[in-house]
Amino acid sequence: MNRQFETSKEYAMHLDLIDPLASFRDEFYLDPETIYLDGNSLGLLSKRAEASLLSSLEDWKQYGIDGWTKGVTPWFTLSEKLGALTAPLIGAQADEVIVTGSTTINLHQLTATFYHPSEQRTKILADELTFPSDIYALQSQLRLHGFDPEQHLVQVKSRDGRILEEDDIIASMTDEVALIILPTVLYRSGQILDIPRLTKEAHNRGILIGFDGCHSVGAVPHYFDEWDVDFAFWCNYKHLNAGPGSVAGLYVNKRHVGILPGLTGWFGSKKDKQFDMEYTFSPAQGAGSFQIGTPHILSMAPLKGSLELFAEAGIERIREKSLICTQYFSDLIESELAGLGFEIGHPREDKRRGGHICLEHLEAARICKCLKEEKIIPDYREPNIIRLAPVALYNTYLEVWETVQTLKRIVKDKQYEKFENKREVIA
Ligand SMILES: *Cc1c(COP(=O)(O)O)cnc(C)c1O
Repeated sequence: MNRQFETSKEYAMHLDLIDPLASFRDEFYLDPETIYLDGNSLGLLSKRAEASLLSSLEDWKQYGIDGWTKGVTPWFTLSEKLGALTAPLIGAQADEVIVTGSTTINLHQLTATFYHPSEQRTKILADELTFPSDIYALQSQLRLHGFDPEQHLVQVKSRDGRILEEDDIIASMTDEVALIILPTVLYRSGQILDIPRLTKEAHNRGILIGFDGCHSVGAVPHYFDEWDVDFAFWCNYKHLNAGPGSVAGLYVNKRHVGILPGLTGWFGSKKDKQFDMEYTFSPAQGAGSFQIGTPHILSMAPLKGSLELFAEAGIERIREKSLICTQYFSDLIESELAGLGFEIGHPREDKRRGGHICLEHLEAARICKCLKEEKIIPDYREPNIIRLAPVALYNTYLEVWETVQTLKRIVKDKQYEKFENKREVIA
C-alpha cells in the first residue's frame, strides 16, 4: 500500500496517539531509557508471560509430581493446550499444532518423518539465504540416508544476495526433488515468500513442502491449512516473546494424520496409553505424536501468558501496525539518511515484507555498537546488515523517529569511528 507520512516528530507522536494497539506497551517490561528494536531475535518479557511462568512454578511448589495433572494448567496437557492457542496465529486446527522441541530439533523430526528418498527423488531443496542451522540439519539428515549433501542438497540461489525469486525456486523443483524446506520470512532481508504459490507448485510436481516460520510467527498471519502446506516449525522466543530458549512449535497438516513420526518417544503417545508403559508405541492422533520426551515445562510456561496477549490484540491488527511501522521506518530512512551510505535491503511491497527492516551499511558493525551506546538495541548480521524490528505490541512510532535521528547523527558525525568494525560474540 502507498501510505504517505510526514517527517516531523509531532507526526510520530500523532501516529502513537491514534495507534489502536498502544495500550499493549504497558503489558511489557521495558526500560524507559532504551529503545528495543531486537524483538525479531529475542522478544521482551511481558507481565502475562511472567505470571504464567510463576504459576507453573507455584504448581510445582504446591503439588510436586501432581503438577502433571493438577493446578491451573496441568503439565501433562500443556503442550497440546499451547498448540491450540497457537493455531489461530498460523491458520490451523488445534490438533495440527504442538509446542515441543526447538526449531532445529523440529526440523530434524519433520525431515526424519517426511523425507523418503526414492530411486529417482533423492534431493532436498532449500535456499542459499536460509538460517545456517537449517542447512546443518538437512545436511546431516542426508548423511543419515547415506547421501552426500554436496550432491543432494540443492540451495536455490538469490540473484542479489537479499531476495529469493519464487520463479527461481519453482524452476528448481525438478523430478529429483523429494522434499522442500524454505523459510516463510528470510532472516536477513525480511522477505516473505509466496507460500501458497510455492506450495501449489510443489504439490503439482508431487513434492512435499515445509516452512520454517521463525521470523514470521507472531508478526504475520499464516493460513497453513488453506495454503495446504505439509508442515511447518518455528521458535517462540522471537516475535512470540516466550523467553530465551523457550520451547518451539510445529504444525503438521491433518492430511498426514497417522504418519509415523521419524523420531519417536513416549510423549508422542496417545495420552490415555502413555502410562500403560507398553513396548508398542501408540501414537497420538495429530501433531501431538511428534513429541519425543518430557516437555520442558518451565521453558514453555511463559508462552501461555504471551499467547493471551496475541489473542487479545489479534494477529491481523498486529500485522497492520507492523506494516505501517516498517514502511514509516523505511520512508524516514530514505528521506532523512540520504547520502549517508545506507541501502535498504528489505522488500518495499507490503506483501513481500515481514516484521523487520534491513539496513545495509559498510560500517554496520560499528554503527550497531554506537546505537547500543545510545541505548537503542539493534541486531547486527554479517557482513553489513543492521536489522531493526519495530514490534507492534511494544514499540512506538516516536521510537522509530528517534532511531532514525540517532542514526543520522552517528553517521554524519562519524561517531562510529571510535569502535572497531567487528561483530560481538552474539551479534
Ligand atoms: C532463530 C532461527 C532458528 C534458530 O533455531 P533454534 O533451534 O531455535 O536455535 C532457526 N531458523 C530460523 C529461520 C531462525 O530464524
